[in-house]
Amino acid sequence: MGEFELIRRYFAAAPCAQAAEGVALGIGDDCALLQPGPGQQLAVSTDTLVAGVHFPDSCDPSLLGQRALAVAASDLAAMGAAPLAFTLAMTLPQADPAWLEAFARGLSQMAEACGLALVGGDTTRGPLCLTLTVFGQVPTGQALTRRGARPGDLLCVGGSLGDGSGALPLVLGQQVAQGEAAEYLLARYWAPQPQLALGQWLRGKASAALDISDGLLADCGHIAAASGLALRIEQDRLPLAPALRALAGSGALDCALSGGDDYRLAFTLPPELLPALLAQWPEAVVIGQAKAGQGVQLIDGQGRHIEPPRAGYQHFGSSGD
Ligand code: ADP
Ligand code: MG
Repeated sequence: MGEFELIRRYFAAAPCAQAAEGVALGIGDDCALLQPGPGQQLAVSTDTLVAGVHFPDSCDPSLLGQRALAVAASDLAAMGAAPLAFTLAMTLPQADPAWLEAFARGLSQMAEACGLALVGGDTTRGPLCLTLTVFGQVPTGQALTRRGARPGDLLCVGGSLGDGSGALPLVLGQQVAQGEAAEYLLARYWAPQPQLALGQWLRGKASAALDISDGLLADCGHIAAASGLALRIEQDRLPLAPALRALAGSGALDCALSGGDDYRLAFTLPPELLPALLAQWPEAVVIGQAKAGQGVQLIDGQGRHIEPPRAGYQHFGSSGD
């Protein structure tokens, strides 16, 4: 099977590559043409997933398809953007029909859940690597950025924390578990649901926002730095799913604070908007507050400062990796 046959059969023919609103021209020409609505800005974000770094070499291709797009789409959620389209640059060791069919199926499933149309890409041979670029639209000037938090704003998250990192030992085969708790964590790892609707609802309300991909402490550090203030996190308020507590035990808190792969939104909100938030998004949780100062502070139930554990994952971190 040649490159063009591969593209046609598995991607151009996929449900997610069919005509969609905001897409004037899809797969097949030198460029796709996107048409954001009047008064809208285009939001663009790229994510690369490398086999052996971001996912195990021998994982289920359908789950990989879901996860690859979910991770990329989460950045649109973080900006309050409405989803439009995505491109897929894939490097494959070989053209394995069963693998491609399953991957395209998972990708299409997540694309449909997110409302994203596949409009192009690139296909090359080499070690397995996926680069997805997502496009969304957001009314001019209304994107949620990391700067803009004000002292007194509440620090909130869109739901349970630490699930993805709690699932990692299962994903890597370092821990074996069956049952509901394991299934929940594995689903949160392989098919995190980007909080797109929450992000759009937060437009004009949240003062700053991002999605948690590198760990709560590390990512909140980005809001604190960009907004020029301190974020105080109350450790006892962190939402830990029962499944995470069951499988990670005493490590659950560490997963929530420093584990990556949450793909939940973290945002700052003026306190008077809290009732409206909780009425619409009961799974959202206040975990702290913005204060004058700098950095991220962690406190216990008695208000005592706690030394935060290890920071989030960095590819070129000081540990030399
Ligand atoms: P070019 O040589 O002009 O870069 P290609 O031959 O690489 O174009 O691709 C042909 C068409 O197929 C283009 O529209 C491109 O965007 C699309 N395409 C290539 N690979 C993929 C893929 N993996 N998924 C979706 N579309 C793809
Ligand atoms: Mg090309």
